[in-house]
Amino acid sequence: MNNRAIAELVFHLGRIASGEGLEEKLTPAQWAVLRYFALANRFSRTPSAFAAFHSTTRGTASQTIKSLETQGYLSRMRSENDKRSVQLVLTEKASGILANDPFESLVRAAEVLPQSIRNQFANTLQRMLGHVAQERGKPPFGTCTSCQHLESCDDNKDEQTPYACGFTREPLTVEELNEVCFNFVSGKPS
Ligand code: SF4
Repeated sequence: MNNRAIAELVFHLGRIASGEGLEEKLTPAQWAVLRYFALANRFSRTPSAFAAFHSTTRGTASQTIKSLETQGYLSRMRSENDKRSVQLVLTEKASGILANDPFESLVRAAEVLPQSIRNQFANTLQRMLGHVAQERGKPPFGTCTSCQHLESCDDNKDEQTPYACGFTREPLTVEELNEVCFNFVSGKPS
């Protein structure tokens, strides 16, 4: 398969899952926001991180987020560690409609792949994303499992988790290792 055909397949996968068959009266941009906040880790649940992820302006991102807050799909929560910072979180109403999101068909398509293929595929897509992000001057985003900042803290018996983020200096739960992060730096193989 040639390079252009691979790029077209990747683009087509995203396109068919991005807007077709959406039942709720939300725009594709509003769906993109909900999907992002369902994936993002606690360091990345901000309007500016979403704007970077979706390659849109902060103003446009803020307007879309505001409309979702007004409709009861997103709410604001103060960070436990830094009371000055605010995170956006999905409400139960949002989680309910995301269960019927056409994007879930992509998730199921990934689920039927054998684990070894899934890992290879994830690495391949992460590399492609890194190239495109670098060329376009965008943050690459990614998950802790392949991030340079992921640290193991096996020797720290007080921590409830054996992992920590070297960038934020905070412990990480196992569940958080698979959440998408704005501060990601490609480095460790997953
Ligand atoms: S280890 Fe990397 S991906 Fe994980 S929270 Fe830290 S900066 Fe983000």
